Amino acid sequence: MGKERKPNLRISRIPSKASARAFERVLQEGLVRSRLLVPAGLFEETLAKLHQRGEEERESAAIWSGRILGDDWEPSRVDFHHELCDDRATALSLELSEAAKFRLYQTLAASQLRLVSLIHTHPQDWVDLSQIDRENQICSRVGFWSLVIPNYGRPPCLLTEMGIHTRTEKGWYRLTKAETQRMVIIKE
Ligand SMILES: [Zn+2]
Repeated sequence: MGKERKPNLRISRIPSKASARAFERVLQEGLVRSRLLVPAGLFEETLAKLHQRGEEERESAAIWSGRILGDDWEPSRVDFHHELCDDRATALSLELSEAAKFRLYQTLAASQLRLVSLIHTHPQDWVDLSQIDRENQICSRVGFWSLVIPNYGRPPCLLTEMGIHTRTEKGWYRLTKAETQRMVIIKE
């Protein structure tokens, strides 16, 4: 039987960095199960106050807390770093003091609220997590979110231009635009 063989592109192709990245993505994609459901009012308030605080010259940050129902993470409260403490932000970094973190955790525990996401701004359109961002996290739970807003939060802020990161079992994972549209929902 003269069965024609198709060339096996996968084997013959020289492995590239791009294909290694694509492979890594496939491995991680199955790990993103959680959805982020944000009330529109909370979303707008957070972006507006981060932009206001940053005055287009420094980073600013906030923490969302709320409830976690199965794979659905639903923030209902926002706490801004600059209201929790002197956030000591400079143009490129920002910190929350240990004392402020502790006070916040106590408040949230008393209200039965869970940490849902950290949100912070970056100076330009680079919205990956920096090494400092990766190390300086407030929650390492799988499913926890970290949103990076470009241009110090200058409007318009489109979801698909933000860095939407979530904790997976293999560490931080940045959602693709398609995943963002599917997994991050702004509730009217
Ligand atoms: Zn950052």
